[in-house]
Parts: sequence; C-alpha cells; structure tokens
Amino acid sequence: MTSGRHFLQIPGPTNVPDRVLNAISFPTIDHRGPEFARLGREVIDGLKSVVRTEADAVIYPASGTGAWEAALVNTLSPGDRVLMFETGHFGTLWARLARDVGLDVTFVPGDWRSGVDPAVVEEHLRADVGHTIKAVAVVHNETSTGVTSRIPQIRAAMDRAQHPALLLVDTISSLGSAEYAHDAWGVDVTVGCSQKGLMLPPGLSFNAISAKAREAAESAQLRRAYWDWEPIIAANAGGFFPYTPPTNLLYGLREAVAMLHEEGLDNVFARHQRHAEATRRAVEAWDLEVLCRVPEEHSPVLTAVLMPDGHSADAFRNVVLDAFDMSLGAGLTKLSDRVFRIGHLGDLNDLTLLGTLGGVEAGLRMAGVPHKPGGTSVAIEYLADTAPRTA
Ligand code: PLP
Repeated sequence: MTSGRHFLQIPGPTNVPDRVLNAISFPTIDHRGPEFARLGREVIDGLKSVVRTEADAVIYPASGTGAWEAALVNTLSPGDRVLMFETGHFGTLWARLARDVGLDVTFVPGDWRSGVDPAVVEEHLRADVGHTIKAVAVVHNETSTGVTSRIPQIRAAMDRAQHPALLLVDTISSLGSAEYAHDAWGVDVTVGCSQKGLMLPPGLSFNAISAKAREAAESAQLRRAYWDWEPIIAANAGGFFPYTPPTNLLYGLREAVAMLHEEGLDNVFARHQRHAEATRRAVEAWDLEVLCRVPEEHSPVLTAVLMPDGHSADAFRNVVLDAFDMSLGAGLTKLSDRVFRIGHLGDLNDLTLLGTLGGVEAGLRMAGVPHKPGGTSVAIEYLADTAPRTA
C-alpha cells in the first residue's frame, strides 16, 4: 500500500475527477421514467456539444471497439471498399475489424511515426474513377504513437478529388482533449469513447452521424442488430434507450460535459497543447527522441518516447511503477518495449504534469537509461513562463 494517489499517466483510461466519481455514485433510477428521460436528453445534447455537431449522436454501453464496428456496419455493405491507414496499432486494429465484418480494405502502409498524408488520400480517390471506395476511415489521434492526423486537410483532399466516399473518424483518444469539430470539418461518422478526454471510466462509446451517413445507412447491407442506429435514435427522441442503459455512467457523462464547458472547450484544448509542448521540451532536454516525426502532427494528448537502443522501455516503466506508483503507457505491437507513452490528456493540471515528468526523470536515472538530467526543469520554466493568469 502506498500513500498519495496513483499517477495514471497512460493515454487512457485517464484519471477520473472526484466530481465525476461522485456523480456516478448516485442511485440508479428507473430507465423508463421521467427523470431518466431528462438525463437521456441532457447527455445526448451534451455529447453533441463536445463533438460539435447539430446532427444525430448515439451512445453505446460498449468500449470504443463497439463504436468502430457500429460506424462500419451502419454505413456499408459486404465487399464495399474502404480506404484505411497504418498509422499505428489502432489504425491496424480498425482495418482488421473492417475485414472481419466483410469489407474490402485498401490498407495504406505507414511508418508509425506520421499521420495520414492528405496527398495520399487525394491520390487514391482520384485513381478511383468508378467510385468503388465507399469510405475513408482515419484515426484522428493514434494513441499508440502520439501522432495526430489532420482531419480538415484530409476532408479538403477528398473534396478536391470530388469523391463521394464517407469520412469516418476515430476520435477515441482525442475527443474532449484535442480540437475537433464534426460538422465544421465535414465528418460523416465520428467514433468516440468515455475513458480518455471525457474523464469517465471505460464503458461508453459514441457515434456522431451526419445526414449523409444516416442516408447511407438506409441502403447499407452489412448485418447489424445491437449496433443499428435507427432504433436507438428513435428511442433517444424521448430521452430513452432501446435497452437497459448504463445509467450511472450517464450521470458521469453529464458531469464531465459540464466540467468541460465550465472550463471552455477551447481552453481545454489549449491546456493540452501547452502540456504537450512542456512534455516535448522535457524529452528533448533529456536528449531522448519523440516518436512523432512530423512537427504539425504532434499529439496534444500523449507523447511517445523512443528508448535508446539496448534499453527496455518495459523495464523502465516497471521501475517507475514500483518506485513512484505511476503507470506509463506501454509500447504496442510493433513498438513493444521500444517506446513508453506519457499520457497528458483528460483531468490534468500543471503540477500533475510536473509530478509525471519528475517521475519519468527519476525513473530514467534509477533504470540507468542514458539521458541528460534537467528535462523537468525545462518543463517548469516553460510552464511558469506560459501560465495563464486570471489576476
Ligand atoms: N482507437 C483508439 C485510437 C484507441 O486509443 C483505442 C483504445 O485505446 C481504441 C480505438 C479501442 O478502444 P477500446 O479499447 O475502448 O475498445
């Protein structure tokens, strides 16, 4: 047993604020009664305000993977072509799921250090003169690498190619932490979940649905039952769900959305950008390498750090966990044991970040990882020089 709080600095699930934990602890109510109807309407509207959409949005009692599947099976038919990208572990898993549900995936290979290149999207779509590609599916923030793909530029590339494919975007680790706008960015289906920027425990995931996507669903032939948008949207009109909803997580969602709006979404995004910059400055000062190699694609929500050759990222993470009770993110599949990931998303302030960076620096020293000391001091200077002041 250790004193103080565990530092959960993985890129999700994230630290759940006390306000959200308290909200979740209220008694479960009748999910067919008037009080629930009010809650249901509030959380759907609240979710839409965070996704920044006036269109439809549905909430699933499921992890993010469920909402990935929902985005595909509602809009597409067996054998439809989908353009997908190897941005990292999650881009790869989404493509596998797409194949598993019967889609024909064109998988653009990637180096796990950069995001989706809008020029490559344009090239593929221009070459597809017969419009056989029915959807372009992109992971906004690739959680395995700390690289963010530029959705507005990808949308612009699709428009330049005058191609009618749907744009499906995974915002699982960006929603509520990185700038995002479903309507303004012309996204057709946004996929999100609860346990990252929304500061909730795992268990909820979302689809926001453009009018074009909903229309595509009318003729889409992939088999769907639980994931079918239509019965959910119909029940949601009255504030209800077509099955037993996860009432207590919805209490939490209501509270989390209120917290995001109290701070102001743009302030939340700026806070994460600033923390990401402080983290990168620390990594650079340690003389370690940030995995993302495209400056305009640096993730505001996590930083993946390459381990010097011959050193184990997992051994280092174990030292940090053991000595300081802090969890850092592991390298996934191709990056296994090669990187560690610092999560700076969700409910995080300057001192939480400095504690995190201090724990990383102390851990590097204890694990004998070659580095230059002083990265945390560089982050302190940056945060002090850029601290927002109200007085
Ligand atoms: N997509 C991204 C970008 C993720 O980070 C994750 C999980 O971390 C997933 C999809 C899968 O979500 P889940 O594990 O909630 O099913």
